[in-house]
Amino acid sequence: MSQSTQPTTPDTTSEPRSVLVTGGNRGIGRAIAEAFLAQGDKVAVTTRSGGAPEGALDVRCDVTDPAAVEAAFAEVEAAHGPVEVLVANAGITADTLLLRMSEDDWSSVIDTNLTGSFRLAKRASKGMLRLRRGRIILISSVVAMLGSPGQVNYAASKAGLVGVARSLARELGSRSITTNVVAPGFIETDMTASLPAEQQAEYAARIPLGRLGAAEEVAGTVLWLAGPAAAYVTGAVIPVDGGLGMGH
Ligand code: NDP
Repeated sequence: MSQSTQPTTPDTTSEPRSVLVTGGNRGIGRAIAEAFLAQGDKVAVTTRSGGAPEGALDVRCDVTDPAAVEAAFAEVEAAHGPVEVLVANAGITADTLLLRMSEDDWSSVIDTNLTGSFRLAKRASKGMLRLRRGRIILISSVVAMLGSPGQVNYAASKAGLVGVARSLARELGSRSITTNVVAPGFIETDMTASLPAEQQAEYAARIPLGRLGAAEEVAGTVLWLAGPAAAYVTGAVIPVDGGLGMGH
């Protein structure tokens, strides 16, 4: 193998890393934070009203507020050092059919899911560029590629993350910073519990694996993307959807 194919800074350290998970108080974010804690990493989670898992640094942050994002990073850096793994997980839905969708339904979802992730990735990349390594993982959705009636705002925000990740993969790759997207399917959390039972059953019937997913199953993929085994994976969109979205 020629010298030029060697990674500049191999990300194979077994030292605990500084990990930041947004929306880590419940659902998928909590399962991700708990998985990193279980492998001994230094984990900070952002919450809006507390409730971080035991062992994690609980940092108050609304991702729609640029000053709060800046303050959260300052707090995490002071406690754990520069963020080496960012998991941009915080997200919302405001579902309704197009003709009923208000400007606020649109902009609140875009601002939280897409612009929030942009803010987080931008701030995290500062420290990662200095370290010359890092892992950025954006939590998208199967809906990004599949589309979904009543979710024009949500689908646009989640599809936008794919463009963000692929651009960052090209922009930051030379510094051994990987950027990847995880696209969960139908995962049992508060977000999906709010869907009508008929819609839940309809989704389940379309999933090749024949069941809904668990938050821990998303966490497993995130852990892999953040670990040494995925050092050569960037710009990828990894589905964790029981086959629901395959073909895209
Ligand atoms: P939940 O609704 O259970 O949790 C959402 C999390 O995001 C909460 O921690 C919430 O904090 C946080 N959050 C929301 N808005 C903000 C904000 N403005 N600032 C900071 N934090 C915020 O969702 P899930 O766990 O189901 O979803 C997690 C991610 O996975 C989301 O991005 C979602 O779109 C995505 N996803 C989920 C799927 C599913 O089937 N569940 C499928 C595909 C993708 P708080 O407690 O303060 O409200």
